[in-house]
Formats: sequence, C-alpha cells, structure tokens
Amino acid sequence: MQDLVFAPLGGVGEIGMNLSLYGLGDERRRSWIAVDLGVSFAQEEHLPGVDLILPDIRFLIEERKNLAGIVITHAHEDHFGALLDLWPQLKVPIYATPFTAALLESKRIGEPGAPEMPVKVMPLGSRFTLGAFDIELVSVAHSIPESNALILRTPHGNVLHTGDWKIDPTPVTGLPTDEAKLRKLGEEGVLAIVGDSTNAVRDGRSPSEADVAKTLRQLIAAAPARVAVTTFASNVARIRAVAEAARAVGREVVVVGRAMERVIQVARETGYLEGVQPFRGTDTYGYLPPDKVVALCTGSQGEPRAALSRISQDDHPDVTLAKGDTVIFSSRTIPGNEKEVGRVINGLIDQNITVITDRTHLVHVSGHPRRAELEEMYDWVKPQILVPVHGEPLHLFEHAALGKKLGIKHIVQCRNGDVIRLAPGAPSVVDELPAGRTYKDGRLLISAEGKTISERRKLSFAGMVFVALALTDKGVLAADPEIDLMGIPEHGANGEVLADIAYNAALDTAENMPKARRRDPDAVAEAVRRAVRASIAMHWGKKPVCHVHVLTV
Ligand SMILES: [Zn+2]
Ligand SMILES: [Zn+2]
Repeated sequence: MQDLVFAPLGGVGEIGMNLSLYGLGDERRRSWIAVDLGVSFAQEEHLPGVDLILPDIRFLIEERKNLAGIVITHAHEDHFGALLDLWPQLKVPIYATPFTAALLESKRIGEPGAPEMPVKVMPLGSRFTLGAFDIELVSVAHSIPESNALILRTPHGNVLHTGDWKIDPTPVTGLPTDEAKLRKLGEEGVLAIVGDSTNAVRDGRSPSEADVAKTLRQLIAAAPARVAVTTFASNVARIRAVAEAARAVGREVVVVGRAMERVIQVARETGYLEGVQPFRGTDTYGYLPPDKVVALCTGSQGEPRAALSRISQDDHPDVTLAKGDTVIFSSRTIPGNEKEVGRVINGLIDQNITVITDRTHLVHVSGHPRRAELEEMYDWVKPQILVPVHGEPLHLFEHAALGKKLGIKHIVQCRNGDVIRLAPGAPSVVDELPAGRTYKDGRLLISAEGKTISERRKLSFAGMVFVALALTDKGVLAADPEIDLMGIPEHGANGEVLADIAYNAALDTAENMPKARRRDPDAVAEAVRRAVRASIAMHWGKKPVCHVHVLTV
C-alpha cells in the first residue's frame, strides 16, 4: 500500500513561513499537495537589508510535475505571503476561499510586475479533489475572515490540518469554528491532526472578539477628544468593532494607511463589513471636531513608514494628534518589534497623548487556541496521531506534552524538512527533504546559505578596509599602497590615525615577506589582509573586513 506522508518545509520550529506538504505514494514517486506558502519578517539587526524570509522550495521545484496544487488556509502573510514571489517557479493551481482569493488579487494588483496566478475560488465548507487527495474545507474562527482547516480523506484515514484557529462562538464577523462538522469527523474517525501550537503554553481559553468589541466601545465612548485605534490591517472583525463603537457615539471613522484601505475594500466586496457605515478619507480628518472622529491606523508593530509611526512623529500630511487625545493599540507586539513599538508609544506619551494597550485593557485577543480549546478540539475529533506545528520549539513541546496528557496514542515531534510517514504502521520520521530559508533582497531571491547576508552583517558591525598594492613581476612594490576605510573610526585608542596603521601594516608585510613568496600575488594579499586586520584590532578592539587587491605591473 502507498505511504501517506506529511512533510513541513516551513513553520515548524518557528512562527512564520508556513509551508506543509502531504504526499501519497512510495518514496520513488509521490503525488503531492502543498498547504500554504507564507513568509516571515526579517529583523533588521540580524538580517541587514533583507525584506522578507521565504521557505526554500528547491524540493517543490524539482517535484513540480507531481505537485497538484497549493491550498491556502487563510490570508495571513505567514500563510500566503510568499505566493507572489515563489509561485512563478511552481506554476501550479492555487485553491483559496473568496476573501483570501480577493485579498491575494488586491495584493497582486498593488505590486507592479507581479505574476497572474490561476486561483480556484472555493466556497466555504466545500469539498474537492486535488491530485490524490479528497479535501474538505472546515470553517474555523481566527483573527481574519475565512480561516479554514482542511480534512484530507485518504485510503489510510482522515487527516485534519487545522491551520490557524480558535474557538470563538462570537467572532464579530465571519463564521465561528464549525463544531458540528468537526464532531462528525470525529465519528468518522481521524488518523492524524496536524495542528496549531502557537498558544499551547497558555492555560484556559482565548477571550472572544466580542469581548474586545465591548472594551473598545467603552473606551471610545469615554474618550474626551480624538481617538486613534491601530490594529493588524487584516483583522476585519476588529475594524467592524471600531466602526460600531464609533457610530454608537456619533464619531466618523477615518482610515489611515494603505494596507488597511486595501483590506477594507476587499472586506466590503466580500460582505464582511455589511451594514457598516462608509468610512472617510484622511482629507476630511482636519474638518471633523475632535470628539467626532476615530482614526483607524496601520502601524501597530511600530513600522516606521506606517500611519501611526508618522502620526507620532508629527509627520503625517493630514492626520495629527495632540494633548488629551487617545491612542489604542488593539494589537499585540510581535516578538522582535518591541523596540519599534516602544519608540512610537514613548513618542505619543511625550506629547501627553493617552496610550492604551493590552497590558491594561482587553483591547486585543489572540486568534490561536489556548490549552482548553485544544482539549476541546481533540475531544471532538479524537485523533490517533498528533503532529504539533505552527510554533517555536517551546510551543511544539508544550503542545506535544498536552497531547500526551490527553491520551493521544502517537505524538510526532518534527522539524522543517522531516518526512513523517503517517501510515501505514506507527508514525515516524522516515526521510529528510532539503529545507531552509530564502531571503528577499531588493528584487532578488537569494539563498540563506550564501555569504551575502553574513558578509553584510560583518560589514555593518566592523566596517571595511580596502588595500590596493601594485607589485612588479619580481615581487617589488611598484608604488605606495592605497588604503581606504569605510565604517571605521578615524583614530585609535591612543589617537593613532587608523588609516596610517593599516598603511604601515600593509607596507611592512609586503616588504618583509621572503622574496620567493612575494612573487605570488595571492600569498601577498592573504598576508597583508591578516596583518592589516590584526593591526587595526590592536588599536580599536574590533576586526574589520579587509579586502586586498594586488595588481601585478
Ligand atoms: Zn493566521
Ligand atoms: Zn499563522
């Protein structure tokens, strides 16, 4: 009988960059489907100049003929953000529900040169065949409309790929988690669940979007002057909650930030903001009295070019805030963004603006299941195998431990690149695929294994020395060495000129090398490089990158 395998190429051992594969067949020939194709965001200090991190899809490119398509669970960047960049190397059909497809299209139009991609728009809850797989969509609550879990029906049994989910009976917009369908699936039998671990370290249940809506209503009603609310642009339920809170107290909503405008347009087209009043453009902001306006802004992560950051620096052409105004962060600070968010918050507080965050008020809830929700899901579907995914190692570990405690028979812990045979037989890791990261650097995609970014990091840490030497064919210096420093202080600890230090080191080394060795330009370059770095390090305490160019004349 054919093997049923699961192979994650991203998102396991990290939060972000989700890419899961399912395969049927023997190891020489498998029929594959991919679930999601997401990105991670780079932290500037670790990856200078890198815009995005994408999964390494070497394996999929090789296996393109056996890849039936990509199913997108929902429109968060960590699940569909790599499509525009990576799809051209795969050119397989994409399956998505209407909101996800519309947001993808809107993103594509906004990016000049983006490829036209064949997206098959699937109705919510629909069932379809893709390659060797019979797939059914299950609506689940999350922090964006139309998050879907997938049921994969195979000759070996059913697999439930949860995607991102929570249990929220009152999600404000969109459908709640389809409990009836999941319970029925449990009766039908579930071989394996491949599930969201993000909040497996947290006890209890996530509060509901409706609780957040209530808090926002109270805060906006009580605010004495202008209110600005920032949230993740894709959180349509939150946008609706802000709109309803504003309308209840006779305030207009002004939308600030392109990403938010784009999502709002798509949400209106797909019915997720039905009944919500029209919003105003930023040009009307200045004419509205302070107690008659709510600004809905991008920039909850402190992104320097986003609306809120510019407003906090008094750098926005239309929107300003002043003493007595209120800013609500209806969001969570994603780890790694603390400094940027802190900068924005401190800037606002310095202007006597009231800042409200989820530290003190229920102005944000997570879209991922906490432990009581995981327990409930596993009680519904009763899986034989649990594969924790979508999490850092700690999240995966806690999720596995919870599964064990709940009595799930097999717990499989894996990482990106592992091939897990789910059936037949007891599940285990049976193979390894090439997996890793790709960086988006300007317009290019480059391998994370290459030298580019590590060299750039070294340059940013300790600068660079250029040395140019001209040697005759007898190995004699034909002219004085040329030295150029970049990103290096002018003077050393005792006031020495570092350029002179480098010059002397280069000259001494080149002149004092044994004659025979001096005829070998590579040997000269290497000796000078070492000497220059060592001499500068002695006076500075840091070793710069050194590049020696030897010219034979
Ligand atoms: Zn998500
Ligand atoms: Zn996610």
